[in-house]
Amino acid sequence: MKYTFIKLNLSVFAHYGPHLLFTFVFCCGFELIHNFAVPCRNFLRWLVPCAFILKTMPVYLQYYFWLIAASLSCFLLERLHPWRKQQKVLRKGIWQDLFWLAFNGHFFGLLFAIVAGKLVIGLNSVLYSWGWPVPQDIVLLIAAPLWVQFIVFFLLKDFVEWNIHRMLHNVPWLWEFHKLHHSIRELDWLGNFRFHWGEVIVYKTLSYLPLIILGVDATVLLIIAVLWTFMLNLNHSNIKFNWGPLRYILNSSAMHVWHHDEELHGKGGQNFGQVLSIWDWLFKTAYWPEDEQQPKQLGFANQSRYPKGLIRRLLYPFWKK
Ligand SMILES: [Zn+2]
Ligand SMILES: [Zn+2]
Repeated sequence: MKYTFIKLNLSVFAHYGPHLLFTFVFCCGFELIHNFAVPCRNFLRWLVPCAFILKTMPVYLQYYFWLIAASLSCFLLERLHPWRKQQKVLRKGIWQDLFWLAFNGHFFGLLFAIVAGKLVIGLNSVLYSWGWPVPQDIVLLIAAPLWVQFIVFFLLKDFVEWNIHRMLHNVPWLWEFHKLHHSIRELDWLGNFRFHWGEVIVYKTLSYLPLIILGVDATVLLIIAVLWTFMLNLNHSNIKFNWGPLRYILNSSAMHVWHHDEELHGKGGQNFGQVLSIWDWLFKTAYWPEDEQQPKQLGFANQSRYPKGLIRRLLYPFWKK
């Protein structure tokens, strides 16, 4: 009886074996595809509403519209009134800089937003479990008028970024990231986008807490983002421009060009300002000679050892030779 049972089972396996094997392979394959498909589906679920919002939102409320406007206006100004007249439109490194514009302005920004979003949720749940306030709930400026929110956010962001920029020059391992921006030999508006993805992480991480606790309106955030893009594009443009008597408050292309001077004029460099120049004048890190118009050479010392290829530059601080 026992023998018959085993024999029966074996015959069942012999009969259904290929089907079982096929089902097993199919399930494994499905599991593999499923594991890959879930993150893709989640990404699409996140992306589709974003695309829908972009389609339905008025164009002037979209950052990309202003990014194009800022880039085009600086490009036109450079064509109309070039400062370094010998500098060509299709200068050396322009194609790679277009990659940095797309990568830093869009792809890495998107990736960073997804990863940072997950990290913030994790951080908030830890703070919540400790009974601590969540930074987004502090909202110091929520009741203030929009113009007050704008001024406080603007001043704090610019001062925090001035400090981070100084750190990028004075902390050796951070300087390895920032070298990419200083590898520019021919400065123009597009050079504004030549920076390492590691810098984005440093800026966003260090400025996250002081800025998030202010809790400003989304309109203020958009105005600040647009203003930053216009001003920083302008500061890198190949045009001779300063703000006249306001030069001690606002940064300009005539001042920022000295930040890219190969020769250092202070500890770690000079003119670390983003939109405002006032911090450099106040803390004596400003350098703007009366007798000279422009630096003799842009870049940094021993630049010949810095890689030129895209992949090597993307990995540079982690993979130096
Ligand atoms: Zn710098
Ligand atoms: Zn610069």
